[in-house]
Amino acid sequence: NPVVAIVGRPNVGKSTIFNRIVGERISIVEDVPGVTRDRIYSRAEWLNHSFYLIDTGGIDIGDEPLLVQIRQQAEIAIDEADVIIFMTNGRDGVTAADEEVAKLLRRSNKPVVLAVNKIDNPEMRDLIYDFYALGFGEPYPISGAHGTGLGDLLDAVVRHFPKGGGQEYEEDVIKFCLIGRPNVGKSSLVNAILGEERVIVSDIAGTTRDAVDTSFVREGQEYVIIDTAGMRKRGKIYESTEKYSVLRALRAIERSDVVLVVLNAEEGIIEQDKKIAGYAHEAGRGVILVVNKWDAIEKDDKTMAEFERKIRDHFPFLDYAPILFVSAKTKQRLHKLLPLVQLVSDNHAMRVQTNVLNEVIMDAVAMNPTPTHNGRRLKVYYMTQVAVKPPTFVAFVNDPELMHFSYERFLENRIRDAFGFEGTPIKIIARPRK
Ligand code: GDP
Repeated sequence: NPVVAIVGRPNVGKSTIFNRIVGERISIVEDVPGVTRDRIYSRAEWLNHSFYLIDTGGIDIGDEPLLVQIRQQAEIAIDEADVIIFMTNGRDGVTAADEEVAKLLRRSNKPVVLAVNKIDNPEMRDLIYDFYALGFGEPYPISGAHGTGLGDLLDAVVRHFPKGGGQEYEEDVIKFCLIGRPNVGKSSLVNAILGEERVIVSDIAGTTRDAVDTSFVREGQEYVIIDTAGMRKRGKIYESTEKYSVLRALRAIERSDVVLVVLNAEEGIIEQDKKIAGYAHEAGRGVILVVNKWDAIEKDDKTMAEFERKIRDHFPFLDYAPILFVSAKTKQRLHKLLPLVQLVSDNHAMRVQTNVLNEVIMDAVAMNPTPTHNGRRLKVYYMTQVAVKPPTFVAFVNDPELMHFSYERFLENRIRDAFGFEGTPIKIIARPRK
């Protein structure tokens, strides 16, 4: 998905516009633990285009002076985005800080759409003319307060999206990435995987932007590790802003089938790990929890079970994800990693037969009566799988409002028991029967 960044000095209304564009998407995100507080990245839709929206104003640069912060945020946008929305405030006119942002954006050669916010009524439209001076062509008047002008603005944004995107690799290639905070051992794991005896590294493909993917073949199966260079990159901004590396991880997740969430056995699990894992889950990718540096801790016969329990406590939303304890250093259990990636990738793309699925569902409903609400009982008539990656099921019911979360969970578990979807999230959507 293309990435769109909103840039501009403070108080021009970036986060209001962000929330307007993202809209109800936010409330969906809210269901996922660990993803809730972050309102800086989200997926958004416009005219059948799905894209990532970033509010660079929300990226915490630290205690730098204002101008330095604005500059760094602009640089992040230039690095990461396919299209930049440059936001200004019509009531303030063109300020020195706007000029500063403009200077950076002009040098970047990225497509920029200029938005003039706080144009709350037609009489204020004349305020936009000063903004031609910034050199980005037609300024788009918008109002965060009223939500007006956003349609035209987004039309202009979408026109700049890269053409013909979509499938980068063949369908049968397994794409995966390793994500996790700095120093958990991602680079070491990549090197260990590629150094495995039966692995033939065929090429390193320079793909989108500065992402570098590594492709290899093992036992006849082709794999691509998404963005192997990015995880090693250590620029100034990468270090000064934790959230920037999350953004990088997000993009890798988007392009992958399976995500290896790498944890550090030495340091346990921290908030940041949860956030990162939350993104993988929300994106609907297959997930494997990889606990690295297993060599580095003192262990007895209970350590692994205890660590496993800790992980399940911290990541209740990833209860489907297998856990693998490895060491990049001693290579312990590393030979299990790629077969597990393959298994999870297969499950992520698995399609089940409708008649078998409905036998399972009818048995489940017979075993555990459907919930009632205000004297009305949920009826599940029929279920069918409508998509893969991740497996997505539609349940035709009398009234979707009656489908309680816990019952959906129950059905999901029955489906998992029957078909074995280890490592992949499953989506169930309740629809009224026509
Ligand atoms: P990244 O930032 O996640 O890519 O982490 P690196 O791969 O750069 O590793 C960070 C540090 O941890 C380096 O000093 C590695 O040598 C060390 N390291 C990586 N994997 C292991 C491991 O399995 N065991 C031990 N003991 N150290 C490791």
